[in-house]
Amino acid sequence: MRVRVIGAGLAGCEASYQLAKRGFEVDLYEMKPKKFSPAHRSENFAELVCSNSFRSDALTNAVGVLKNELRMMDSFIMKVADETKIPAGSALAVDREQFSSLVTKRLKEMKNITLHYEEIEKLDTSVPTIVASGPLSSKAISKSIQDYFQEKDFYFYDAVAPIVTVDSIDFTKAYRKSRYDKGSDDYINCPMNQEEFLAFYQAVITAETAETHDFEKELYFEGCMPFEVMAKRGMKTLLFGPMKPVGLKQEGKEKPYAVVQLRQDNATSSLYNIVGFQTHLKWSEQKKVIHLIPGLEKAEIVRYGVMHRNSYINSPKYLEDTYRVSREKYVFFAGQMTGVEGYIESCASGFVAAVNMVQILQGKEEIHFGQGTMIGAMAHYISHASQSNFQPMNANFGIMNLEKIVKKKEKKEAYAPQSVAHIKELKEKYGL
Ligand SMILES: Cc1cc2nc3c(=O)[nH]c(=O)nc-3n(C[C@H](O)[C@H](O)[C@H](O)COP(=O)(O)OP(=O)(O)OC[C@H]3O[C@@H](n4cnc5c(N)ncnc54)[C@H](O)[C@@H]3O)c2cc1C
Repeated sequence: MRVRVIGAGLAGCEASYQLAKRGFEVDLYEMKPKKFSPAHRSENFAELVCSNSFRSDALTNAVGVLKNELRMMDSFIMKVADETKIPAGSALAVDREQFSSLVTKRLKEMKNITLHYEEIEKLDTSVPTIVASGPLSSKAISKSIQDYFQEKDFYFYDAVAPIVTVDSIDFTKAYRKSRYDKGSDDYINCPMNQEEFLAFYQAVITAETAETHDFEKELYFEGCMPFEVMAKRGMKTLLFGPMKPVGLKQEGKEKPYAVVQLRQDNATSSLYNIVGFQTHLKWSEQKKVIHLIPGLEKAEIVRYGVMHRNSYINSPKYLEDTYRVSREKYVFFAGQMTGVEGYIESCASGFVAAVNMVQILQGKEEIHFGQGTMIGAMAHYISHASQSNFQPMNANFGIMNLEKIVKKKEKKEAYAPQSVAHIKELKEKYGL
């Protein structure tokens, strides 16, 4: 049986390997070197377009847990990453050239993978397909995907505010209240006095911004305005804008000078985003600035704000937690375009899509990894998050279920053993 995989990036390479390993014939389509996206430069597959780090390898870190799950299930990308790793403390970093060329070499050596150096311009849903053409998918296929879903459900720009875990908010300072008490106590408010606001303001206007790619500049102001750009227009812009304190006074307390509001971000209300803080600041600077906000001094930031070109589907509307398109039998999407964010997350989605394609083509039940694992929590997030405000997400513990009740400070240690137990069961049941 043949399966078509579109895009030889992190997701497409993982998916191709898993399919080929299970005896399927794979037609892997990659438009490079004939055509390059604005960020891709190398002729090799699985190109790391920016950092050469796969982030933390620690089992107390969500992406570390995800890597461990992938290693347990014979992930191709993880295997090559481990073989090409370079010293980087507790993180897993690779020699990017060695990594990509080894991925390419290994896939070329697999007999049942046929490589096609061609751009796919139009989606053909009559053949079993995994679409993994990435956040910078070519224009033609983007248009075809837009037509396939509804136009407004395929986004081209990502402007998100940072997200923190609710557990890490200090509620001796923060409080729940909606402006003028309209609606229930949906918002968490972090009040500032004048002195705190001035210190925060100075930090924002002097913070360093991330580098913008040339192809992103034209889009920069099309989305909402970055918080720091608003701040640079003057203090009042913030005080009359996202930090407006009116209608948020607490009974018996002084009226705050400014207020930072947080809004619930996931159904289980474990995550909150900082309202109006879409930003282009460097991640290290975001951390400094956010930790100056009263109540957020120790906030655990599970996703930093970003503003970049990023094509992704409104997955909660269209995809299952197996990355299959709900209305199709064997059309899957994988990688960053499904709303997972990051190299390893993209690889993980390619893995889930491929093993489920195998199940379907063999007439077997689909594999739901479940929120007790990080790989399943990501899959659950992209298929169940809010359809009206869907935003991409990194691996983080805020979206994973911890099935045992443990003390707050023991939580981080508790995820990995649970994930290992679940993956062992799934391996046994499905031969992963
Ligand atoms: C500029 C930028 C920087 C990033 N930096 C990081 C980072 O530092 N760390 C991190 O963890 N994540 C980063 N990401 C996010 C994400 O993890 C990566 O983009 C990751 O490579 C996504 O994997 P993927 O497999 O979904 O797509 P990709 O790795 O982009 O692979 C998609 C492949 O499909 C090919 N393709 C596109 N259209 C077609 C077509 N029509 N026909 C055939 N082939 C096609 C492309 O040439 C490419 O090889 C970054 C994203 C961008 C855009």
